[in-house]
This record gives sequence, structure tokens and C-alpha cells, in this order.
Amino acid sequence: VTSRSSSLDPDDWPAFRAAAHDLLDACIDHLSHAHEHPWRPVPEEVRRGYSVSDSRLSTEALVERLKSDILPYGTGNTHPGFFGWVHGTGLATGILSEIVAATMNSNCGGRDHGMTYLERAVVEWARSIFGFPAGASGLLLTGTSQATVLALAAARVRALGEQVRAKGQADHQLTAYAGRSAHSAIRKAMELLGMGGENLRLVDEQEHGVDIGHLRARISEDRAAGAQPFAVIGTAGSVDLGRFDDLPALADLARNEGLWFHVDGAFGAWTGLAPEPWHQLADGIEQADSLACDFHKWMYVQYDCGLLLMRSEKEHRATFALRPAYLAGQEDGLAGGDPWYCDYGTDLSRGNRALKAWAAIQVHGAEKLGEAVGRNCALAARMGSLIAARDDLKLMAPVVSNLCVFTADHRLPGDRQSRLNIAIAQTLQREGVAVFSTTDINGITALRAAITNHRTGEDDIDTAVQAVLDARGRFAR
Ligand SMILES: *Cc1c(COP(=O)(O)O)cnc(C)c1O
Repeated sequence: VTSRSSSLDPDDWPAFRAAAHDLLDACIDHLSHAHEHPWRPVPEEVRRGYSVSDSRLSTEALVERLKSDILPYGTGNTHPGFFGWVHGTGLATGILSEIVAATMNSNCGGRDHGMTYLERAVVEWARSIFGFPAGASGLLLTGTSQATVLALAAARVRALGEQVRAKGQADHQLTAYAGRSAHSAIRKAMELLGMGGENLRLVDEQEHGVDIGHLRARISEDRAAGAQPFAVIGTAGSVDLGRFDDLPALADLARNEGLWFHVDGAFGAWTGLAPEPWHQLADGIEQADSLACDFHKWMYVQYDCGLLLMRSEKEHRATFALRPAYLAGQEDGLAGGDPWYCDYGTDLSRGNRALKAWAAIQVHGAEKLGEAVGRNCALAARMGSLIAARDDLKLMAPVVSNLCVFTADHRLPGDRQSRLNIAIAQTLQREGVAVFSTTDINGITALRAAITNHRTGEDDIDTAVQAVLDARGRFAR
């Protein structure tokens, strides 16, 4: 085996192969023993070692560093006791697809090659899962945050016409509407698009999400004051409590008011794959003009892998297509293949997100993935009933889907509950037992479990609740 000594390829491919096999074994060992690898703080000397130095690494030395200084210090979301934020777990299939994706190094911004077709296949699968009409378009993105920016950009083009791309929105005050528990990504999208964060009107919520009466009132107030309402955002799976807006009611309202209907289904969209009683939580999603959700959360696919679906391909393209001569498409050859994904978003160079999603779908199928989603909801319900069964712990809200939010001692004054819950979360993280995150509900910082982890079992839930009680006991002393 020879190599061109002037390139950056290894001088010695057989040695590279041996080192790579060794690393692959280490990765598989790590993942197949995921329960032994909780989050661990990065030791000071390891952190110092991350500084780029002048000494060059051989392939073998690189592999040793990867094994000793990198692999152990991830987020810990591969561990079955991880319930923090809404982190996906990752899949073993991802190891395989990422090796191939790195080898191919495809630019998925467009053109005519295998990964363009693969991304179309993944989008087409999602289109049918979510009940969007034939001809709907979509693409894979960094995540729901980016998908939200693109969706609201398209909504603005509908409201002001394509000329907004050339002229800007001038003094039009465009207003959008979402429930109070809507994710901060929506506000950031409004800020980034120059529409102003305050022009996202946060509407009161009831047990079943956005209060439709209040929403209607806000829209007419804004119209009366000279603003131009342009979009309603429904949440399928709120980040704090896993609640669902009444999406069919929001779709009706959006239609009647002539507004774009966007759904933030970052994780909750996937409940549509789960069995009853969760199966229908996100019904109505099929009526959206646009849907943002994540493969990297509740489809467990490796980061990053978000999805934007658009009902109207025409409006999608009208918002983003812009091809100077150096990007001209051709009838034939590599520059063929229409659409190019750069016509559907802001990124021109794009990584390969389709392969890892495709591998996950092809290996596990909608049914197995949906069962895992259902299991996660059942585990949240189990945690909820363990908590409800005690008179010292207390649920901050009923468990609707995969989120369980509670306080470790409701008998204490609010500020002491908050301090206790924060201390417990930190202790359990440090000890590598379980990862809860925290959030504020009714002025109290509570423990929050968002279970999007296919490795979690009933015993992990029981252990985590017991660990909360044990930690609390230690603080009480
Ligand atoms: C995580 C999340 C987002 C943001 O998605 P990213 O993929 O992290 O960009 C938006 N909305 C909800 C409800 C979320 O849970």
C-alpha cells in the first residue's frame, strides 16, 4: 500500500487500520457498558491537556488520547440514569453511520449524489409519519432552534410577499403568538429575524395549553393597534412539563385568522409513534404549515439532527432559493438533482445528517422507535406515581408525557425547597447516580426528569427516586 507523501493522508495505512480497529473496539466497549459511564467532571489535568500544543500526535498516540482523555468526558446522556434537559441517548447504529459519513465527507447542500437522495427519503418518511400532504418539503438541520428560524422566515414571506427578501420588513410590526411555556428558541428566532422578541406574544395557558379565548383577544388587540399578526405557534410537548396545546383548535384559529400555523414538536411530535394513551397527544400536527422537531431528542439519533417540514414546497423555496451562476443547477452530471437543500435554508455547505437518521429508521422502524417513546412515557408515569405515593415529595404538575417535575420536600418554605432541589440535582450528578435538571414552577426551583432515554429501565427510575431521598436525608443532617 502506497500513499502520496505530500497529502495529509496517513503515511502508513496498515498502521492506521490497526489503530482504527483498536479505537472502534474501545468505542463499542464504552457504549455496550453505557451503564458504567455516567457524566464525570473533567479532571483539571485532562482539561489542561486539551490546549493545542506544538507536539504532533502519531495516529497511535491520537487513538490513546481519544480513549483516555476524550471518550470518558461526554455529557453523560448515554447513561441510563440521565434525565436532564431533553437529551437524546444516541444509538449504536450511529457509530456505523458516522464512520461511513466521515469516510464519504459528502457536502449535502445540493447536487446529484447519494446523500441528496437519502435525505429526501428521510424527509419523505417523516412527511408520511406526520401526515403532511404529498409534495411537502423539508430538510435536516442542526435542531429545532434553526428550524424555527427558517419556518418563521417563510411565514414572513407569506405575510409580506417575496419582496421582504429584498426590501426588508420596513415598518411592518409583525406579531406571532404562542403559549407562555413556549420554548425560548421561538423568541430567539423572532429576535434574529429582526422582528423583535416582544412581538412574540405569550398567551395564557390552561390545563390544555394555549387559552384560545385569550389568544383571539390578543390578536384583535394587536390588529386594532396597527400590528400585523402573522403566525401562531403551537407546542407539542412543552419543555418544562411535556404538555400539548390543542393543535386542531389552533389550526382552526390560524386558518380563520389567516395566520401561518407553526408547530414546535421538538420532542413531543414523536408521541404520534407511541402506543396509547400517548398516541394522540400530538394530533393536529398534520394541519401545520410548518413543523420543527428533532431526531436527536426522541428518535435517539446522534447529534445534531433536527427536521423542518413545510406544507408548501413553493413557499419554502420562495423563502430561500438564491442561486448565483457559481451554483447553477444542470440537466445532467453532479450539478443536477433538484431541489438542492441550499434552496430550502440558509446553509450552503451541509453535513450528512440523513445517514444516521436513515440507519436508525431502517434498523429499528417506526414501531420499535415508537415503543421506546411509549416506554419513556410509562417510566415518567412510574416516577410520578412513586412521588405521588409519598407525602413529603410532591409533583409540581401531572405527568402528561415523558416529563416528571417534582420537589424533594414540599413541607419546607419555597426558597428552602429551591435550594434543596438544586443541591440534590448537583449531588446526584457529581456522584454519577442520576442526572436531573431543574426548572422553576410557581416560583420554586424543582427537580425535572425529561426521559428521552431508550436505555432507562424501571430500576433506574426507582434508584433515582431513592437517591433523591438519600441525598435529602444527608442535607437534613
Ligand atoms: C429542545 C427544544 C427546542 C430547541 O431544539 P434544539 O434542537 O435544541 O435546537 C425547542 N422547543 C422545544 C419544546 C424543545 O424541547
